[in-house]
Amino acid sequence: MSKVAIIGAGGVGSVVAHKCAQVPEVFTHILLASRSLDRCKRVADEINEIEHRRIEVARVDADRVEEASALFRSYRPDLLINVALPYQDLALMDACLATGVHYLDTANYEPVDHARFEYSWQWAYDQRFREAGLMALLGAGFDPGITNVFCAHARNELFDRVEHVDILDCNAGEHGHPFATNFNPEINLREITQPGRYWENGEWHETAPLSERRGFDFPEVGPRTAYLLYHEELESLVKHLPELKSIRFWMTFGEDYLTHLRVLTNVGLTRIDPVEFQGRPIVPLQFLKALLPDPASLAAGYRGKTCIGCLVQGIQSGRQRKVFIYNVCDHAEAYREVRAQAISYTTGVPAMVSAKLVLTGAWQGSGVFNMEQLPPAPMLDALGRHGLPWHVQEL
Ligand code: NDP
Repeated sequence: MSKVAIIGAGGVGSVVAHKCAQVPEVFTHILLASRSLDRCKRVADEINEIEHRRIEVARVDADRVEEASALFRSYRPDLLINVALPYQDLALMDACLATGVHYLDTANYEPVDHARFEYSWQWAYDQRFREAGLMALLGAGFDPGITNVFCAHARNELFDRVEHVDILDCNAGEHGHPFATNFNPEINLREITQPGRYWENGEWHETAPLSERRGFDFPEVGPRTAYLLYHEELESLVKHLPELKSIRFWMTFGEDYLTHLRVLTNVGLTRIDPVEFQGRPIVPLQFLKALLPDPASLAAGYRGKTCIGCLVQGIQSGRQRKVFIYNVCDHAEAYREVRAQAISYTTGVPAMVSAKLVLTGAWQGSGVFNMEQLPPAPMLDALGRHGLPWHVQEL
């Protein structure tokens, strides 16, 4: 018997709750808590209808350590799946330490006023989680998450030495809106408007935002143009795969999306510093978020596929080898199963499977971990069964 608490009832939180409900032998009790109780209730009703299970709901402000701790003291979960926003990560890690709960998230901690995308704050909790005999698993979505697991699998099973990794994230779906983001708009736009950064020959290199691009031919999707971005898993993979000579992250965008983004940036609507408006401070990006579609609301009409994976080059038995390890996910199929679009689905499924591996003891350890530090085999064995089949294409 194990109890899981999920915090955050947005696009990803809804998928996590559905997927946990599909595995009653592990997740015997499920609590979904978020800032707005109504959203939790809506998801709970949907789970009752589709999965035929009742889950509990609660309201919590996860910025407040005491509020989250009180919730954990009364519900007594074994593990927390944090799929609220990156701003809440440290408060929720503190609450887990205070109440003896394992911790899992899908995005690195971010201070509200600085886009940093780095693990330093969360890695600093390692000693405290070790001493408490608890596990904190960071970045357990798809990218970061499964991309880290693909790299560990390449290192353990496919190569004698992994030398170059390009992480490729392609969304070839159509949602019918002129401009929308596929996950929380604030976090998404912070991520893609910062300078690009990649690792090569022992040092970091910086590029102007979205200035480097390349064409890739994606399985089941076809050729697309992808842009170099900095993404948080680069930091942990450089640390944990020290043999790497280079690692980069690429994401596809259409011309129309980039034109909208350029205009929004030029007029200052992606700024994260407060500006004075009618006598009070507002953060332009938070205002823009209020105008953009809720990512979960895109799901119903979304068509097309995502293809996310790792292009890995290295040495195997004295010869050069190059493979693409990837998953393809269909927006409409995700909607049919759990009423979500594929970006929420590809994030929520790995979070549920990671939670299952921790609760069943397949993944064990005390301290703070990134996904590539745990054995990849149990995750890769389970991933396809829970909705995300993966493939290795020899190139
Ligand atoms: P949404 O904006 O759809 O949902 C976020 C949820 O968190 C909302 O329900 C929101 O509540 C809740 N929330 C926000 N602040 C608080 C708070 N202080 N206390 C309690 N609840 C709060 O985002 P997504 O579902 O799209 O994304 C969720 C997370 O997943 C993000 O951190 C994102 O970066 C990450 N992600 C990771 C990916 C990966 O592959 N690793 C890919 C995609 C996303 P309310 O409804 O009241 O605003």
